[in-house]
Amino acid sequence: MKHTRLLIVGSGPAGYTAAIYAGRAGLEPTLMEGIQTGGQLTTTTIVENYPGFPEGIDGFELMDGMRQQAERFGTLMLSTSVVKCNLAERPYRIWTDDGEEWTTDSLIIATGASAKYLGLDDERKYQGQGVSACATCDGFFYKGKTVAVVGGGDTACEEAIYLSGLASKVYLVVRKPYLRASRIMQQRVEDNDRIEVLYETNTLGLFGEHGVEGARLVYAKGTEREREYSLPIDGFFLAIGHTPNSALFQPWIDVDPEGYIITDGDSPRTALPGVYAAGDVADPRYRQAVVAAASGAKAAMEAEKYLAEQQYTQTR
Ligand code: NDP
Repeated sequence: MKHTRLLIVGSGPAGYTAAIYAGRAGLEPTLMEGIQTGGQLTTTTIVENYPGFPEGIDGFELMDGMRQQAERFGTLMLSTSVVKCNLAERPYRIWTDDGEEWTTDSLIIATGASAKYLGLDDERKYQGQGVSACATCDGFFYKGKTVAVVGGGDTACEEAIYLSGLASKVYLVVRKPYLRASRIMQQRVEDNDRIEVLYETNTLGLFGEHGVEGARLVYAKGTEREREYSLPIDGFFLAIGHTPNSALFQPWIDVDPEGYIITDGDSPRTALPGVYAAGDVADPRYRQAVVAAASGAKAAMEAEKYLAEQQYTQTR
């Protein structure tokens, strides 16, 4: 069994930033990177809204930079995933996919959230070539173009409205005959000349020689009105929700009905002493790299304070 004072789980902006701060505070943190090293940003192309990069930066490069910075300050970087944990008592216990067992005095959960996809093969085929799950990240590439947003909730409406400020035409593809979004968001969509809502519509697939050039849609599937057709589009945005990666910790950590970890207001503190949640796993609202990075910094600062207090009480 191995022991660390601070274990960080997750290698997105929250996890790496937590490691940079904790490393600089001399905590020698251990970071378990999980399956997708670098997190969601490594699936996008250019990141243009992360401050400090006026020309934008490749998502992979940005995350690699954060990783190196964390290593420079003494983070032990492990390319393992957590498969099980026991947070019933301290030190907390963690088991990894390479068969190791760890104990830790404090824990930062930065496991992120995964955008939901429809499950079409074409979504994988055109990932980064017209398929995106983040309008704020990728919308800029569709200036003056035609895009479709799938979903009928607040996120889909928000993404469609955002994209309508860039694209010349936005189709909102909604599987039900109504929007699930709040009334105010519905109104904004209705009032927007560039957005056209396609109700009772599902996506069958995507096509295109050089990236997405169109979607195959079906209207009123299973009814007498059923009709399949092709819709020319340049971009296909998913906004059908996110799944926070919190399942492993749920027996011990409070989560909201969607599975997002509940923290103490603006602080990353959970109800468990020395356990913090940072980034998208605890953020149903903003889901931005810069916000995640900031919460990672806060979590590390809280952990540092917690560990210092522990040490003080133990040595007295
Ligand atoms: P929601 O779960 O509210 O909505 C998901 C949407 O995607 C629904 O319209 C759903 O359809 C649709 N959907 C789900 N699966 C599929 C599928 N396989 N095929 C087609 N459509 C599908 O998620 P959101 O991300 O929109 O919102 C999450 C939470 O965050 C909500 O509570 C929301 O209010 C909140 N939020 C608030 C904002 C704000 O206040 N400005 C902004 C963004 C989010 P169906 O309706 O048929 O189930």
